[in-house]
Amino acid sequence: MNTKNNLCESIRHCAYQHGFDLCHFSRPEISGKDRKALDNWVGSNMHADMAWMAEESRLERRKEPNSMMDDVQTVISLAMRHAPPPYSLEHANNASNKGIIASYAHGVDYHDVMKKRLKALARDLDKLLGEHEQRVYVDTAPVLEHALAASAGLGWQGKHTLTIHRQQGSWMMLGELFTSANIPVDNPSNEHCGSCTACMDVCPTKAIVAPYVVDANLCISYLTIEYKGFIPYELRPLMGNHIYGCDDCQAICPWNNKAKTPDTDLLTPRGENILPELAMLLHLDEQDFRERFRKSPVKRTGRAAFLRNVCIAMGNSGDIEFTPLLLKALYDGEHLIRGHAIWALSVLHRLHHIDGFIEKLIELKKKEENNDVLKEIKAILSPK
Ligand code: SF4
Ligand code: SF4
Repeated sequence: MNTKNNLCESIRHCAYQHGFDLCHFSRPEISGKDRKALDNWVGSNMHADMAWMAEESRLERRKEPNSMMDDVQTVISLAMRHAPPPYSLEHANNASNKGIIASYAHGVDYHDVMKKRLKALARDLDKLLGEHEQRVYVDTAPVLEHALAASAGLGWQGKHTLTIHRQQGSWMMLGELFTSANIPVDNPSNEHCGSCTACMDVCPTKAIVAPYVVDANLCISYLTIEYKGFIPYELRPLMGNHIYGCDDCQAICPWNNKAKTPDTDLLTPRGENILPELAMLLHLDEQDFRERFRKSPVKRTGRAAFLRNVCIAMGNSGDIEFTPLLLKALYDGEHLIRGHAIWALSVLHRLHHIDGFIEKLIELKKKEENNDVLKEIKAILSPK
């Protein structure tokens, strides 16, 4: 083995010791194809409400990784695997009085774990590489992480746009370490989706509008986590019981069939986040919510948006037993929760008839001050 390979292997060894499962190297360059894909995606407004994605300066930084710091020579792409969902897609979808939380969020917040591990790796690199500048990134920075991971040979971007490794599948989170050290790079990954379209076919909202293109406006991950407004009417029934993120396109992917469950430590799933009872969740007040999801990524979404999702799942369940809880939610201080509780009750009312529901709406209409909630009420009292 020559000295160059020794350096890569030493860095990989350190990365594995700090809990990373994959570690690959690339130059800070984004291919013309990936730049064009990003421009088309943003140009078609597929970034939805994530306005920061379309900001000129951030867009340029995404396309020019070497603008992230002075004299960056190498990008180290790192992956940390997490356990796949411990149930089948069918089982989760049929458990309609329970909510589906994406598997990466079953344990503690990976951002915190990843950041700590990246910083520990950075300290080791200071010793290994001598004088060099470096920065670490997890998710929030304008870094095209899947494109960089593919050019570093960590895996290819599947038609669902996530990174897939041939042996380890796609249940993993990515982070990056940019350094001014010139480290030998890996060969880019080849693409192995072939003629498969399973992820496109299974997507409940048909958000994968073309191979390798996900329209965030339609994606349940975006809608349940990032989006903080009223969910479009036509998408609510399609969301089923997804209350935080969505695993469907990964769960169906054949490359995940053989992926072994990793020996995770910090990311170990917590039982209470695996198909939690919807009824328990709608009981959470602000303080309960903060305590219940204290170290979980779910806390980032906030109580209002999370319970909005819970209300939609309750409506989609068709379960009349949720009526008393939803009626109580009509008086919640958060308009997002009141509005979606109205919608959920209207679904249950259509199926079972809820005594006094229309009268209740007429009474609420007189007092409600929020225009979006009023719109929900009017949509039921005076449908077009
Ligand atoms: S995360 Fe869910 S909604 Fe989004 S593309 Fe995948 S299957 Fe579709
Ligand atoms: S489900 Fe099929 S098309 Fe989609 S990412 Fe996996 S291999 Fe590719």
